[in-house]
Amino acid sequence: MQCFAHRGSVAVGLCKSCGKGVCSDCVNDTGVGLACRDDECGERVLLLDRIVANNARVMRTANSQTRSSGLLLLLMGLVLLGLGCWGYLSDSWLLMIMFGACGALFLLFGLLRLVVERYPSPER
Ligand SMILES: [Zn+2]
Ligand SMILES: [Zn+2]
Repeated sequence: MQCFAHRGSVAVGLCKSCGKGVCSDCVNDTGVGLACRDDECGERVLLLDRIVANNARVMRTANSQTRSSGLLLLLMGLVLLGLGCWGYLSDSWLLMIMFGACGALFLLFGLLRLVVERYPSPER
């Protein structure tokens, strides 16, 4: 591959922003990727890196929030099931069915939260 600016010079890499080949004379190593001599490209490569890092952080936070709300739902489900048992013990079918059904729903949604709703892990 040839440098986009210097025909005849071998390109050492591609500008991460515009995708043009850059030789060792005109490469601009931003530290997070190669850019060409174009200032705009250098800034864009740095910006892209910041955006990716920000997204990764947001996804991590979202995952831990999903996890804690899932655990909360499970906990509430267990409490409601406990109340259902209490309804059963005090011979109240209405309380038992009401609390039992709500508890089962909470448990179900809690489990769904923990198992299904997952953002892709940025670490992979
Ligand atoms: Zn460029
Ligand atoms: Zn060049």
